[in-house]
Amino acid sequence: MLNPDRRIYIGKRDATRKCRFCKRESPHAQFNTKAHAVPELIGNKTLLTLEECNECNQNIGRYEDDFSKFTHFERTFNRIPGKKGIPSIRIPNAKSRVEARNNNINFIEGENENLFNMNFEENVFTAKLQKQSYRPLGVYKSLLKMGLSIMPHDELENFNEACLWISQPDLQTHRVSDGAGYYCFLTFTPGPRPYPHPILTLLKRKTETPHPYMSFILRFGNRTYQIFLPAKKLDKHLEGKDITLVGYPSQFMHYDLHNLWKYGKTHFNHIKLSSTNLRTDDKGDYQFRFDSVSEEKSSEN
Ligand SMILES: [Zn+2]
Repeated sequence: MLNPDRRIYIGKRDATRKCRFCKRESPHAQFNTKAHAVPELIGNKTLLTLEECNECNQNIGRYEDDFSKFTHFERTFNRIPGKKGIPSIRIPNAKSRVEARNNNINFIEGENENLFNMNFEENVFTAKLQKQSYRPLGVYKSLLKMGLSIMPHDELENFNEACLWISQPDLQTHRVSDGAGYYCFLTFTPGPRPYPHPILTLLKRKTETPHPYMSFILRFGNRTYQIFLPAKKLDKHLEGKDITLVGYPSQFMHYDLHNLWKYGKTHFNHIKLSSTNLRTDDKGDYQFRFDSVSEEKSSEN
């Protein structure tokens, strides 16, 4: 789990620095950008890397934008501050918007727009919101970058091809298959920020099971994201075979079993992140349950 009060650097401040992605060394590569091992937008202010050159840092930002769009709403509703604070949600061609202010989430509705609706009989608040479009493979590549950023050095050589792909700004140059169809397992646990700080996990295959060698799991806010990392040589024997992917259980399954988490059960889902085409999620109804409603006098008269 990332500690918000303790700064950690991956790598050493040697006279010669080496980028773990493009493998270039100083002085051929420059290393003076502050590089986050996992994006600042998930609330990481403290885990930094000394093994990411300026050029790779800039290239990574190109597809990290897909991850930013993919997780935008979660970050607003969980009030997760990125570089520019907690992101607001703007609705195209409307004045209505969602803003995080003073520990609250404010739904501000434009005149006659009817995008937000309170159902007092069922205690449900519904907001019609539309996510910005994103490239699914850009989301996968961002998650892969996070996994490779924290990969121990003695394992890193198993992922040389994947590192080269990460160093490229686009999605197709030096693209590597994860051998598993770029699936991402997701869980959603309701309630106020079950994962208060990001948690990063690498899981390694220990026995000769027909399962990809390495898996990466990111947890933050209400969600977990699990992908399988492309280890070309170590997963060669799986090529062309039917394999069963196993999702790592959420820690909240334990709570579910014993009814210890009072906000509801953890939901499981999966998504295929193989496409390079922009995906626009349908205009969705986002529902929030409430216990009671109270009136608050507006301070802005
Ligand atoms: Zn580099």
